[in-house]
Amino acid sequence: MGRIFMVELDGRVYCCRFCRTHLSLSLSLFSIMEQSFQCRHGKAYLFNHGTNISVGDEEERVLFSGMHTVADIFCCCCGQNVGWKYVVAQEKTQKYKEGKFVLERGRIADGTDLEFYVDTRPSGSDADDS
Ligand SMILES: [Zn+2]
Repeated sequence: MGRIFMVELDGRVYCCRFCRTHLSLSLSLFSIMEQSFQCRHGKAYLFNHGTNISVGDEEERVLFSGMHTVADIFCCCCGQNVGWKYVVAQEKTQKYKEGKFVLERGRIADGTDLEFYVDTRPSGSDADDS
């Protein structure tokens, strides 16, 4: 206790590439999947939480890591498909993915891509710690 936990909006918000609706914070980033995993468009990010996302119909899909029940996820603002959600993983080693969201890198923009996201500090807090 005693430590103020600030949500670190340090330029790491992941947004819909098409309409820039915020989809997730880097704080909920679980892992970046690269070699071990391939999605249709290359790199993908696995998130614990997603916001502003609508979830489509569940379906069974055979992925790199086995059979999964997944549901496509869509930006709730513009309706673009931005990735999918793992609903059920059949393989024991993949169970950790259940309930998590995958956002495809090619379909999202992170905070560093966004010019409006440059200044997120609360006013009056700069240069306090020197
Ligand atoms: Zn969108």
